[in-house]
Amino acid sequence: MEQLQNKTVLVTGGAGFIGSHLCDELLTNGAIVIAVDNLSTGKLENLSEAQKNLNLHFIKGDVNDCNFLKSVFENNKIDYVFHYAAVLGVKRVMEQPMLVLDDIIGIKNILSLSKDFNVKKVIFSSSSEAYGTLNELPLKEDNNKELSYQTHSTSLYALVKLIGEKMMKIYNDTYNIPTCSLRFFNVFGERQESSAYGFVVGVFIEQVLRGEAPTIFGDGYQTRDFIYVGDNVKMAIKALISEKTNGEVINIGLGRQTTILDLAQRIIKISGKDLSPIFIGERGYEIKYRSPDVSKMYKLLGEKLDDNLDENLKKTYEYYARK
Ligand code: NAD
Repeated sequence: MEQLQNKTVLVTGGAGFIGSHLCDELLTNGAIVIAVDNLSTGKLENLSEAQKNLNLHFIKGDVNDCNFLKSVFENNKIDYVFHYAAVLGVKRVMEQPMLVLDDIIGIKNILSLSKDFNVKKVIFSSSSEAYGTLNELPLKEDNNKELSYQTHSTSLYALVKLIGEKMMKIYNDTYNIPTCSLRFFNVFGERQESSAYGFVVGVFIEQVLRGEAPTIFGDGYQTRDFIYVGDNVKMAIKALISEKTNGEVINIGLGRQTTILDLAQRIIKISGKDLSPIFIGERGYEIKYRSPDVSKMYKLLGEKLDDNLDENLKKTYEYYARK
């Protein structure tokens, strides 16, 4: 993508799961990438491929520390920002609910420094959690319903994402800094955390690799939208490049509702093992159904994603098997 050639792009959370894949793709497109991460959940090994490229510069530090972040902006002429650093994961967020509130400071730092240093555009990673318990499927980015999302919020994580989206919009409209918030649905793929603090695809794959049955909370009929990290990154870069996305909130998902039971069965089938999922008690705080309306994503980003869930699950399975 020639718009990225020799442009300097700051990726916060760059040593994390999605951030590190984004760094890889930006480098492939000729960008100079500044990856900032405090390594709280991220790992330097996620950037091991990227670090072979001289255009990757990793800086360890906390985006909530304004002086640190200011030095990053002072020492690099940053054209674009992807703000992905955040505290996340259902278990981690439930155990330390107040920790996520600090992320508002990071968003504030990113926006005020982007303004001071004339950044050309900021992309913010929001989340499907922003919809709270809203059950009108498919979930649509509709400004008139925002109050309703807040009323339906079930976690401080969701509230922080909503506040972040609003801050992005205000900077876009009032301070003339193009911003765009992307509501990511469930992203999966290589390098995602798969411990008890991790995410369902990695957790199931690790269980199956150990020869254990995948454990499902509840009846397994809860649904999610699973988008492969490569597709997520492709869409985020398109959102950066297109001017049509300025000031917008956009769902980023595959547009395919998959039950957790179906997911477990697909992973078992890929493994070729003789296993059946087991069901344990429901997690009280879990949202039952989540499915995005992706028409705005297609309209603004101009590309339909292929529904290649099995192929991407297989790639992810093989990655964990090699580890
Ligand atoms: P991740 O935990 O792998 O990445 C987050 C990264 O941010 C980590 O490397 C962590 O060390 C870093 N970090 C956290 N706080 C920081 C701070 N204060 N300063 C500097 N670095 C910090 O998670 P991910 O899945 O790659 O998520 C990336 C973004 O996407 C997050 O904003 C998350 O909320 C959002 N998101 C992810 C999903 C998903 O399915 N993975 C879904 C919705 C939204």
